[in-house]
Amino acid sequence: MKEKLFGYIDAQQDLLLDLQRGMTALPAIGPDNNGSGEAAKAEFIKERLAALGFPPVHSLNSPDPRVPAGFRPNFYTVLPGKDCSKTLWIAAHIDVVPPGDRALWRTDPFNLHVEGDFIYGRGVEDNQQAITSAIIAAKALLDLNLAPACNLGLLFLSDEETNNQHGAIYVAENCSNLFGPNDMMLVPDAGDQAGSLLEVAEKGVLWLKFTVNGRQCHASTPNQGVNSLLGAADLILRLNRLNDIFNLSDPLFDPPTSTFTPTQKEANVPNVNTMPGRDVFYLDCRILPDLSGDVVLTKVRELMRETEAALGVECLCEVIERREPAPASDPNLPFMRALVQSVYDVYGLSPIPVGIGGNTVAAVFRKLGVPCAIWARIISNAHMPDECSRISWTLGDAKVFAGLALTCQ
Ligand SMILES: [Zn+2]
Repeated sequence: MKEKLFGYIDAQQDLLLDLQRGMTALPAIGPDNNGSGEAAKAEFIKERLAALGFPPVHSLNSPDPRVPAGFRPNFYTVLPGKDCSKTLWIAAHIDVVPPGDRALWRTDPFNLHVEGDFIYGRGVEDNQQAITSAIIAAKALLDLNLAPACNLGLLFLSDEETNNQHGAIYVAENCSNLFGPNDMMLVPDAGDQAGSLLEVAEKGVLWLKFTVNGRQCHASTPNQGVNSLLGAADLILRLNRLNDIFNLSDPLFDPPTSTFTPTQKEANVPNVNTMPGRDVFYLDCRILPDLSGDVVLTKVRELMRETEAALGVECLCEVIERREPAPASDPNLPFMRALVQSVYDVYGLSPIPVGIGGNTVAAVFRKLGVPCAIWARIISNAHMPDECSRISWTLGDAKVFAGLALTCQ
């Protein structure tokens, strides 16, 4: 049976190119990136699903007056399984990032370019490889009359590239009854070139903006003012101690600890001989699931008071992004083990469970209690010029998804 299934999937190159060509030609860029949204691309995918004989598509549109359609499309279709009490979801996002500097592209980013096993265009990897693999896998099961072990749901989301508000978060907040207590999810939106990483946990994200106020004066008479740059430097070094203070380690993650990294620094005075009175910088914190943002913020405020006492500046802190860590998904769940086996059957290796520092749509669904695996075999060139993906890996991943759907408990 497996040989027949794999052979069928290997014969889907034309469908692969048709889907990738059509999607690439419809740039689905969100309004936060000055785009007109995902509606046209969603229509294209829905049309193809209907033409390929998929069960009806259900829409979960998130209203957004900033785009011409007036909404951001989310939608799904479900193939009934032998066991209808639970659903294996494969979730992919349909939006893409802007192409960036066109001069850095060898070809038109919105016109699919094929070169042997490689295809080029904005979105072909992130996340159209997953969309294409998922559709081909499900189409193979449909055409070969192979019922998945449990329901197989394909979930297509908008707004992943900005903040998920009109995508995963909208679906989680407004349609949470879509997910049963035994559902599980595969998110093929990260991985490596071997297919060896099974991402099961993510750190939380906390981005902080610090403003240090002193008093500006002529640099030749520093005693007449309060140097905000010195205050900022002092505070940055104190904040760096957070790496030692919160040094709990979890070997699942690489790096294994929470991280606290000073990043952006806004310009202060434009000339050398003025001592600055105001400095602004940012701290990027990635927090392990065992640590809470509140505990970090309490310590941060303590360090700010130390700098104020030492240098006579005023320190202010603003949270500009905060996503609490989601509970990790158990890599020993039967569906995770079925995924590892399915990857082995296709690629001959067993992916290793890992945690990452990012924060993907999986975090949104893990918070709902849906265990999520992130796995794909990809080149990992998302958001770059000349974004590309491989035909052979797209078909290989389709085999992994189809194999998983047939064995998933
Ligand atoms: Zn992506």
